[in-house]
Amino acid sequence: MPTDARRALPSVTALLASDSIRPLLEHTPHSVVVDAIRRTIDAARARPAAAPRDEHAWGEAVSATLADALQPSLRPVLNGTGVVLHTNLGRAPLAPAAIEAIVRVASGFSNLELNLDTGARGSRHVHCAALLRELTGAEDALVVNNGAAGMVLALNTLADQRDAVVSRGELVEIGGSFRIPDIMQKSGARLVEVGTTNRTHLDDYRHAIAADTAAIVKVHRSNFAVAGFVADVGAAELASLCAERGLPLIHDLGSGLLIDLAPIGLTGEPTARDAIRAGASVVTMSGDKLLGGPQAGIVLGSARMIAAIRANPLARSYRVDKLTLAALEATLALYRDPPRALREIPALAQLGATVGELRPRAERVAAALASANVGVVDTVASVGGGAFPTAQIPSVALAIAGDATRIEQRLRAGDPPLLARVAEGRVLIDLRTIFPADDERLPAIVRAAIA
Ligand SMILES: *Cc1c(COP(=O)(O)O)cnc(C)c1O
Repeated sequence: MPTDARRALPSVTALLASDSIRPLLEHTPHSVVVDAIRRTIDAARARPAAAPRDEHAWGEAVSATLADALQPSLRPVLNGTGVVLHTNLGRAPLAPAAIEAIVRVASGFSNLELNLDTGARGSRHVHCAALLRELTGAEDALVVNNGAAGMVLALNTLADQRDAVVSRGELVEIGGSFRIPDIMQKSGARLVEVGTTNRTHLDDYRHAIAADTAAIVKVHRSNFAVAGFVADVGAAELASLCAERGLPLIHDLGSGLLIDLAPIGLTGEPTARDAIRAGASVVTMSGDKLLGGPQAGIVLGSARMIAAIRANPLARSYRVDKLTLAALEATLALYRDPPRALREIPALAQLGATVGELRPRAERVAAALASANVGVVDTVASVGGGAFPTAQIPSVALAIAGDATRIEQRLRAGDPPLLARVAEGRVLIDLRTIFPADDERLPAIVRAAIA
């Protein structure tokens, strides 16, 4: 085999037969190894200066390409961003109880659609409904794939080809190209906008109600706040108007808050129970935002509304799988004991960690690194996931000085990848969103990125 890459590149056959590559075939299918060899040769051809120089180097290069090819596409990362509910990082990590429930149900058969008392066919919709009734005060509940699906389903059931009245101040974009006006239109409802961007009054709604009005929609603004010369109409006032006119009020609550988070310093967002108590006919929310469970959409409401939504043929295409139901039921069960929910639901535990807990952790990691470029700084974390948009949560981060762009990129390319934030020319790794169990791995991860 030629060793001078400038003269000639080795053939696939020669590499496959070489002592450093042949053993790879013991654990990996032939076609996969051949593909890795081809890609390594192509890379060497494209960058001759970086081409492997001898058989050993070719073995290492092919092994590295192969390891890359065998990596799952979806894999765990460390979240150093300080954004607890980060949609790009999979939103809420699950509680141990939820993970155990998934494993139990995934490993075998289950009573997903079977009534164990009668032996007759049952409904998957029963599994979380009782807990949701208990925790929110709603008469009934339905679980679908995500919050957006819940919204489409509610609108399509109640306002197809008819008018749905919504404030201009609530025609928001939630992120990932989810825009309330688009979703309303796709659901078949005709959007009737009332008020202005900053101010909407009860009379605006009142005057918009016409023969073809099917519902009033209230959307939680979620990811931004308005301040200054502003006015909007609360859910309770809208519910009274709806009751007066015999219309349903659909309230898109977004984050899925189930308990008061004042004990951990977060106030001002309505809980699902508040929204139901205010008189909404239907409340929709996500399972994987503040609720801290799996991706899901939760639709709460009166028995009559939920029955109608469940009977909509579209409900079949948004139906949720057994793993989601298992994880959601286990997560909801934790809320029966709110202090336990705050402790065991990872998103809530991360939001509730104190600076006094975070600082010693950061200092231990910094001490282990013993680098003049790594220090501990005060920083500000956020909730994310469209909840408490203005909350500034005091937090603590490792601050890394140096070529910030490059260090951030190397952390992201690491194993495991670590997502950090760049601020004022430094790389910040916020300890609030790092699990304490991962602290031990941090020094090696950071060292590899700054080396
Ligand atoms: C997040 C959010 C949605 C979308 O929920 P998904 O579960 O992401 O589909 C809809 N409405 C509001 C107000 C939200 O905050």
